[in-house]
Amino acid sequence: MIVKKSPDEIDRMAAAGDILVRTLALVESKIRPGATTEELDAAAERFIRSQGATPAFKGYRGFPGSLCISPNSMVVHGIPGPYKLRKGDILSVDCGVILDGWVADAARTFAVGSISVVARKLLDTTQASLFAAAEQCRPGNRLGDVSHAVQRRVEQDGLSVVRSLVGHGIGRDMHEDPQIPNYGPPGKGVKLEEGMVLAVEPMVTAGRHDVRLADDHWSIYSQDGSLAAHFEFTIAITADGPRVLTPWHETTD
Ligand code: MG
Ligand code: MG
Repeated sequence: MIVKKSPDEIDRMAAAGDILVRTLALVESKIRPGATTEELDAAAERFIRSQGATPAFKGYRGFPGSLCISPNSMVVHGIPGPYKLRKGDILSVDCGVILDGWVADAARTFAVGSISVVARKLLDTTQASLFAAAEQCRPGNRLGDVSHAVQRRVEQDGLSVVRSLVGHGIGRDMHEDPQIPNYGPPGKGVKLEEGMVLAVEPMVTAGRHDVRLADDHWSIYSQDGSLAAHFEFTIAITADGPRVLTPWHETTD
C-alpha cells in the first residue's frame, strides 16, 4: 500500500532532508587520501545527532554504521571500517536521517582526488540518470516512466543498471511501497499521484549488471569487479512537479 503524505508532512520530510544534505556536505569535506571510512561515519553520526535527528541506518536490521560507504566495485551497503581512502577511488556514501519520525534517504558517489576517465563517466552518467528520473516524478506519469528514464540514460552511455536492487517509497518508514526498479518499459506500473514520496536511486556499473553479496552479508559488489556508482534523492510528487527533499546538487551553506 502506498501511503501518501500531506504538504505539511512533506515539509517535515524536507527538514530531515536538509540535515541529510548538510551531513553529505560534511562527509565530502572530509574525503581525502588516508581518511578511513569509519572516521567519515563517526563524523556523520555526531553531526546528525547534534541536529536533534537520528541516523536511520544505525541498527537497521543490525547494520552497525550511520552511513553505508561503498568504495570502487562495491555497489551499496558497505560497512564503515578501517579502509583507508586512496587517490583515484570512487566512494558511494548513502545516508538516512530520521527527524520527528520522518525519514529522508539520499546517496552520492564522490571522487577521491583525480579519477580515471571511466570512473568520471560512470559518476556523470549515474547522476544524470537520477536527474532524468526525478524529472518524471509528476502526477499522471507512471512509475515505469521513472524506471525507464534511468535505464535509457545509463544504457545510452554503454553502462549497466543493477537490476536486483531497487528504490522505494519513503515516509515514516525508510522502506515503503512501491518498489522502484531502475529499468523497465515506460507508461507501465503505478500511476503517480500528488503526495507520494519516492527514494529514487540508480545503481550503475561500468561492466555487467550482475552483483554478489560479500561474506559480511551486507556489502554488495559488482560480480565482475567493475566500478559502481550510486546516486539517490528523496523526491515528493507535488501538484507543481517533482520536489527534491534532499537537494545535495544545490549549493547549501
Ligand atoms: Mg539510501
Ligand atoms: Mg534508499
